[in-house]
Amino acid sequence: MSKRLETEVWALDRCCGCGDCIALCSKGVLHNGPEAPILEKRQKNLGLSHTTLDTCTFCPRFCEMGCPRMEEEWAALEPWRVVSARTRPIGAIMAGGVPAGEPGDVIKRLLVAAMAAGLVDGAIVSDVDPWTLQPQLKVATTVGEVVDTLGTPYLWAPTLTAMNEAVYELGLQALAVVGTPCVSQGLRKLRAADNSRLDPYKKALRLSIAEFCTGVYKPDLTIDALVEKMEIGRHAVKRLEASPRDGLLTAVLWDGTTRTLPLSEVEGLMRLGCARCDDYVGESADIAVGTVGAKEGYATLIVRSQAGDTCLRAALNMGLLEVSDEVDLAALNMASREKDRRQRAQAFDKLTMMMLDALAEPLKRAEVKKAFIRLYDKSEGKSARALLEEENCNVTCGQC
Ligand code: SF4
Ligand code: SF4
Ligand code: SF4
Repeated sequence: MSKRLETEVWALDRCCGCGDCIALCSKGVLHNGPEAPILEKRQKNLGLSHTTLDTCTFCPRFCEMGCPRMEEEWAALEPWRVVSARTRPIGAIMAGGVPAGEPGDVIKRLLVAAMAAGLVDGAIVSDVDPWTLQPQLKVATTVGEVVDTLGTPYLWAPTLTAMNEAVYELGLQALAVVGTPCVSQGLRKLRAADNSRLDPYKKALRLSIAEFCTGVYKPDLTIDALVEKMEIGRHAVKRLEASPRDGLLTAVLWDGTTRTLPLSEVEGLMRLGCARCDDYVGESADIAVGTVGAKEGYATLIVRSQAGDTCLRAALNMGLLEVSDEVDLAALNMASREKDRRQRAQAFDKLTMMMLDALAEPLKRAEVKKAFIRLYDKSEGKSARALLEEENCNVTCGQC
């Protein structure tokens, strides 16, 4: 097993649940777990003796190569273009005949344009099982499948575990992946990995699209809490939507009505790794889409690469999207300040690691002391609450 993943990611509740390590594991011994992947234990039985095998012998540690949490710090990709975008009415298909500015609708149009233009031959998207409301990962290979996706980015699913189905089972050669910003970080890390065994994934990955994110919720517990607090039957709910802008979680029911719940009431159900996240606006994605900073009725769309730019141009040329240059950049900057706060949380994680090391190696204690003073000096004696108020923090990660 990768000791580094275990001690630096899982043990510190830093796993974002992207699923990259599970997809890349050469021996298929990593499986989904509630807060972090679980390593399968294999045993050898000889007569009455049982030996636990080291399943990871001779593996070059592919799991580490894709893990976004193994990167000390992520430098944001420079934005090429920042616009407000909404869907254009195109009759009866896709979001009906009225313009829509929901990030999910804008992302669907981008995918449709990318497929129609031959830029991609499939996309990993999240869908919802209509009976259980559980999130499901889907590899969509047709425009129809993209349009039919209900997708909720707010209920956690390990997105990148679907890469093997896309690359090996379906043989896709130009893949788009839609996910949270940490999923785009995982893809960026994979693209930069220097191991030829990972080439099939790297060659297939063409486009990463991230939806702005302040945290994802554990599906089972959240659905149960919703049903209980809203007093509605599980089968009455068509989909869930979270809006950090309004601080509300909304259940859209099959009869067309909606019920809402303050996000603060379910914040304890957020994945622990989200409290260690340093990317809110998809700084590693080819295209990021979200509500922050957008003109009324639109979504903010940030293009950060040639692939993203080509995709947006295709959507505009096909008349699937319309854009405006009107974007509230101050609001976007505020989101970046949120990143600073989370980076400090990561610095404290690092200090914890150093302290653990120093228990075994006394020579490291002076180094730990210096790091401790450096970190605490930054807060200048202010309480955590004072720091948050100063930073205008309004994000409900639930971990403060
Ligand atoms: S070290 Fe190799 S076999 Fe072990 S979990 Fe990581 S990728 Fe899988
Ligand atoms: S962050 Fe992603 S790659 Fe890293 S341990 Fe968690 S699921 Fe695996
Ligand atoms: S808050 Fe961060 S870690 Fe959590 S799902 Fe969103 S991007 Fe990933």
